[in-house]
Amino acid sequence: NGNGPAPTVAIIGSGPAGFYTAQKLLREIRGTRIDMYEQLPVPFGLVRFGVAPDHPEVKNVQETFQAIAESPNFTFIGNVNLGHDLPLPLLAGHYDAIVFAYGASKDRKIGLEGEDKPHIYSARAFVGWYNGLPEYRDLGPNLTAGDTAVVVGQGNVALDVARTLLSSVDALRQTDITEYALDALSASKIKHVHVVGRRGPMQAAFTIKEVRELLHLEDVSFRSIPDELFPPDLSKLPRPKRRLMELLKKGSPLKENATKSWTLDFLLAPKSLKWSDSNPEKLEGVVFSKTKLENPADPESKIGTTNETQLIPTSTLFRSIGYKAAAIPGMAELGVEFDEWKGTIRHDGFGRVVPPENNDASGHGASIYCSGWVKRGPTGVIASTMTDAFQTAEAIVEDWKKRAQHFVGSAGSQDGWNGVHAEAVSYSLPLRPIHWDSWEKIDQVEKKIGKQKGKPREKFGSVKEMLAVSGK
Ligand code: FAD
Repeated sequence: NGNGPAPTVAIIGSGPAGFYTAQKLLREIRGTRIDMYEQLPVPFGLVRFGVAPDHPEVKNVQETFQAIAESPNFTFIGNVNLGHDLPLPLLAGHYDAIVFAYGASKDRKIGLEGEDKPHIYSARAFVGWYNGLPEYRDLGPNLTAGDTAVVVGQGNVALDVARTLLSSVDALRQTDITEYALDALSASKIKHVHVVGRRGPMQAAFTIKEVRELLHLEDVSFRSIPDELFPPDLSKLPRPKRRLMELLKKGSPLKENATKSWTLDFLLAPKSLKWSDSNPEKLEGVVFSKTKLENPADPESKIGTTNETQLIPTSTLFRSIGYKAAAIPGMAELGVEFDEWKGTIRHDGFGRVVPPENNDASGHGASIYCSGWVKRGPTGVIASTMTDAFQTAEAIVEDWKKRAQHFVGSAGSQDGWNGVHAEAVSYSLPLRPIHWDSWEKIDQVEKKIGKQKGKPREKFGSVKEMLAVSGK
């Protein structure tokens, strides 16, 4: 605090990691200036494009983010894709610190032959599609090829996919799900969803809230899980695990007239895809290897394989085995190492990527940090992303205080976005930045159109439409 020099910080990404890092920095060092870069014209990352439409309460964090953006020291620079529209190294000379908070923009693959063929969708694409992510506006998932879908993976995203496929369209109509998704879901023929995992109930990654929601869906029954898959004595388990196991064991209330159903299928690892003999583009099923747990009661238990297989007939497959971050072009020039295997940026455990002393001989270059999913890997809810972002912000504050003690040269007087913009113009880079007031226009129009349809908002599905409304 105090009136000492304050840093100018570039944050790349406007999801929870970016906003919570900004919040803490603005609180901890008076006068900090934040420039938040976002590839899309609209902010909030997965809060807008990931969180399920029927979880409106989760999206309330947008109000906190709005308040942060209203700080006079905060500049939103949307519609600028770092590493593509703007070379990354260009930032270094204009900031005291750069924070990578750009999340995970790819998905993990299962590794099956034919996985890229039609009727197979990544959860990231499907979720992005129903949530209006421009990249997937034209995904056009085929939901009419048959009555069964298989979701590979047993995390909360897998359950979001299953719930969206099985929910009543009238219930979804009151959410901010896109209109084109409602049309496709209204025509959907899918009546049964298998949510398949390699391990057992004790090892599944989903949480109780998401399971409960599915168990209580109207018109959807749940086929119970065989008793032998549960540990014999649940009473010894830690409370959250015990409650989840009890719920899974109890299953869903009896719904005699249900027309749809879902199952949790355990101990199955995807092995190969089965295609129609007459049409090699038509999926007929997924072949799984049966697995066995080394220690069924251990939530971290490893699995072994068996020679037995099981075919689950299906016309549609969703893979939901995780998101994955990718490197941004130009990172290496800033001294950033990207761990391709983990899909995260290498850092010191607190979010420091390149400390100022390693930057250049004079120590005047930007220090580099990471925050959120690109730092920790693509797991965890918004609350854990917040804790993680605060940790990164604390590292920045600590480093800044040390640096400010030996305050020399240009530290504390970086020109941020003004300098970046001027340099970009001098190179004739065709930038079309969207600032917060333009996003607010988009926001207002989306809400207005939504209101006419009885929804909280109708999202624009393309960048072109967003830019047209923003007046840019
Ligand atoms: P992100 O939210 O992904 O934000 C990254 C931002 O960076 C994006 O806006 C992206 O456009 C931008 N970006 C990427 N590359 C560039 C670039 N080159 N230049 C500029 N900008 C760039 N958590 C909950 O608490 N409750 C839920 O119900 C819930 N549901 C979820 C459902 C799904 C399907 C998913 C995937 C996640 C869900 N989560 C939920 C988890 C939560 O969304 C994450 O914890 C959180 O969003 C991670 O924040 P982040 O800022 O690291 O990444």
